[in-house]
Amino acid sequence: MPTENPKFSADQIAVVSRAVATAEDLVSDYYKLSATRMRRLNYDVKTVSDLFPNEIVADHFAQIVRYRAEKKNSLLKTDVEDFYKICLQDHSILPVVTRFTEIELHPFLMYVICHELVHVVRFQRFEQQFHVPQDQKQAEEIRVHRITHEMLAGANIAGMQPVLDFYENWRNAPDMFMP
Ligand SMILES: [Zn+2]
Repeated sequence: MPTENPKFSADQIAVVSRAVATAEDLVSDYYKLSATRMRRLNYDVKTVSDLFPNEIVADHFAQIVRYRAEKKNSLLKTDVEDFYKICLQDHSILPVVTRFTEIELHPFLMYVICHELVHVVRFQRFEQQFHVPQDQKQAEEIRVHRITHEMLAGANIAGMQPVLDFYENWRNAPDMFMP
């Protein structure tokens, strides 16, 4: 990824933080997760400034990278803990809000972050495995887009409708933006 690609400004990073907090509230309400159970989901949301080169991709709005750590003081090799790093791709997100003038950064980020959090919840609850064949991945994408839509359509977030319209096709056939 060449370094001249656009990154979020300090103001935009503040919008990211706000979107993460609101997305966490929506996801915990939807799945009825307590604060403790939310913490146990073991994830973090980062932007390009905090990503390693191998976590940056060209053609996705975000990707999830899974890290596995053996639990401390454990003698069992199988006793591992999954950590999910939600890697926002600034350079893919920014052109959308530039190109589609009706789409604002905050609701767009809300969609992207909620979508990735739904993936994480489903991985951690073993409703979906991390590595699956392409056809299963596609089916999971459709499910996750539908859940995300349901979550956001009722949430009364300013500027959300154009974002839901933008994603309409992804709910049926998400062929290029995965995961
Ligand atoms: Zn996805």
